[in-house]
Amino acid sequence: MILEGKVALVTGSTSGIGLAIARAFAAEGAKVMLNGFGDPAQIETIRSELGAGYDAADLSDPSQIEQMVRHCTDELGSPDILVNNAGIQHVSPVETFPPEKWDAILAINLSAVFHTTRLTITAMKQKGWGRIINTASAHSLIASPNKSAYVAAKHGVAGFTKAVALEAAKEGVTANCISPGYVWTTLVENQIPDTMKARNLTREQVVNDVLLAAQPTKRFVTSEEVAAFALFLCRDEAGSITGANLSMDGGWTAA
Ligand code: NAD
Repeated sequence: MILEGKVALVTGSTSGIGLAIARAFAAEGAKVMLNGFGDPAQIETIRSELGAGYDAADLSDPSQIEQMVRHCTDELGSPDILVNNAGIQHVSPVETFPPEKWDAILAINLSAVFHTTRLTITAMKQKGWGRIINTASAHSLIASPNKSAYVAAKHGVAGFTKAVALEAAKEGVTANCISPGYVWTTLVENQIPDTMKARNLTREQVVNDVLLAAQPTKRFVTSEEVAAFALFLCRDEAGSITGANLSMDGGWTAA
């Protein structure tokens, strides 16, 4: 098992991509600290299945992030692997984009990545081994209309990741982005009604003409594909991959 003895803090791991990553890491022997919202009974089922820890921190609040890192360190050990995966979306033209949604997206999708990183990287450097994996997005490389906050935050994550990679390069710590195209999760499902409204389209048109239109493969990326890639980045053989923004978008950004 390649992650035996490693501690992995995976934010936003109660559903979607983060949950798939947590499952893949636990299956390889990692001690996983879960985080995210959801039904407490369901979260408890996942937690006990994976033999994991769980912290309910709201990542829009830096003091809760500090508590989460402390909780992980006390219960499992300091994180060797940090996966910054929690994220939210809001779809609206910029002129009517609610400022509170802008603030929330920047806080959760970007600032939280800074806070978790600043609080965990010292221990990784001291151990001479660490992995920081940020779930960015195709929207860290290109834009779509009506997603100004998300695109700004994800471009920010890509830049931040490069800076961290350079700072930690000599100390065995890598930092990379995985940038998926569309993955069928609640995050995508929830934006369909707003996209229908913003572009005056049916549900089927949004799926086929907006979402899958962008992806030459004409299929959604799967959470399991992203998890397998994250697992690969944790291998010692991936030690020279750092500062990269790694696309998994069915060819979207190649077009
Ligand atoms: P999801 O909605 O299934 O999962 C999001 C996770 O983040 C959940 O566990 C949720 O509880 C958690 N979360 C949300 N707000 C939080 C907060 N304030 N504090 C703590 N946790 C919070 O969505 P997903 O598609 O699995 O998204 C995971 C990541 O992947 C996000 O960063 C998203 O931007 C990115 N992404 C998704 C897609 C896609 O098509 N689904 C594509 C590219 C990138």
